[in-house]
Amino acid sequence: MQTIDQIYIDGAFVTPHGSEYFDLFNPATEQVIGRVRLADAEDARAAIAAAKRAFPAFSRTTKRERIAMLKRMHAAVLARENALLEAIVEEYGAPASRSQWMARHASDVLLEAAKTLENYSFVRRAGTAEVVMQPLGVAGLITPWNSDAGFICGKLAAALAAGCTAVVKPSEMSAMQTRVVTEALHEAQLPPGVFNIVTGRGDTVGAEISSHPDVAKVSFTGSTAVGRSILRSAADTFKRVTLELGGKSPTIVLDDANFDEAIPLALNAGFMNSGQACIAGTRILVPQARLREFEEGIVAAVANFRAGDPHDPQTSIGPMVSQKQWDRVQRYIRIGIDEGARLLVGGEGRPDGVDAGWFVRPTLFSGVHNDMTIAREEIFGPVLSIIPYRDEHEAIAIANDTPYGLQAYVCSSDVARAAAVASQIEAGRVLVNTLTHEPAAPFGGFKHSGIGREYGTFGLEAFMEPKSVLGVL
Ligand code: NAD
Repeated sequence: MQTIDQIYIDGAFVTPHGSEYFDLFNPATEQVIGRVRLADAEDARAAIAAAKRAFPAFSRTTKRERIAMLKRMHAAVLARENALLEAIVEEYGAPASRSQWMARHASDVLLEAAKTLENYSFVRRAGTAEVVMQPLGVAGLITPWNSDAGFICGKLAAALAAGCTAVVKPSEMSAMQTRVVTEALHEAQLPPGVFNIVTGRGDTVGAEISSHPDVAKVSFTGSTAVGRSILRSAADTFKRVTLELGGKSPTIVLDDANFDEAIPLALNAGFMNSGQACIAGTRILVPQARLREFEEGIVAAVANFRAGDPHDPQTSIGPMVSQKQWDRVQRYIRIGIDEGARLLVGGEGRPDGVDAGWFVRPTLFSGVHNDMTIAREEIFGPVLSIIPYRDEHEAIAIANDTPYGLQAYVCSSDVARAAAVASQIEAGRVLVNTLTHEPAAPFGGFKHSGIGREYGTFGLEAFMEPKSVLGVL
């Protein structure tokens, strides 16, 4: 049983002013495994003040100094990879297929930011003007529970690379991961106040960050509903805002696709991170003429996706993060059945032989219409909808008929044809016949999936404002 009762402000671990304790669970056992003392709005203000004091000096550090800091941060987080992996599995239930990647991703993003910075020029020319990219000031960074460590490190990396100082508000449900990351980052010996980490509730600490006049920028990853409220509260003080929100990503299987490749891709895209991924491919668009063949193939292939103990290397789907999330997924499965979708695999309740833990049955519906609730709303669990289409034109229309636009997948044996389809999809990222990640490429959403981009040069510039200086060239 871990008790986490310190937050990180001004280069030191301190006891929060907030006195509420919040239970941490192991979702595979439903047991309480720890508790965290939550920061409150007063702690958030102290952290913002520390970041504000640190900004003038930090914003004047050189590119070389900041690259060195990012490399120290990278080394420190990498050195804690085993502890981080353990926290990710215990506290979040990430399956073996995902947890290793998540633990490594947290350090990778720091090194990637250092690389981006190495190739980046803060000064450029526009006509007769010199254009200087200037850091915005104090950045508020708010993360979700489904990849807490990766988002803390990724957002911090971009903010600090740009020359901003930061206040991080991690998910209150991920305090163990946050503790490992914070201890590592402390060892990197950055100047006090450059980054501050205050674990607390969204409606106190998060709300203070997104409304405080001394915060110039908010970078938020989480639900579309909270993103909308952050955008509203940021308006009063004209904060720059990056929002990475929900998704309902389509996997478009074209009629020339090789199903031996398309089916595993569609399942891996849909079930990644136990279905608790903003980029999960939850709508699988299949040509009507090959629907039966696809259904037979996917029913056979889904048997390879085992839901169970996240420590077991054979497990590809771990538990849902909380009772609330388990209830939510169950509710959507019931809605799918009630609205007339055809249950191909899975259904309500726990997988056979599992009687504890927030496990759900990997579930596939077919004959889904794009206007059904399960095709429109983000479920955030391993529940996938197969939606038949008549022709390519209709496939593209269905893919785009969603309030979201984060990611899309296209499967085809003709890359040029797939690229033509990709060009018509309203999504921030389209993956053709692949599930690989490209850390240098921008990531973010169209429509209700968000505003702005993270990663690479676009992500770096999200923490800066261009300033044109005339008469000096
Ligand atoms: P959430 O929106 O409930 O919470 C995210 C963070 O916001 C948490 O730290 C929470 O404490 C904080 N928060 C809550 N209310 C707040 C408020 N009023 N003001 C400020 N902060 C507040 O999301 P979640 O349940 O933690 O995560 C799941 C959601 O995140 C899903 O919708 C998923 O699609 C989305 N997500 C998006 C991406 C992406 O990159 N687009 C990545 C991962 C997750």
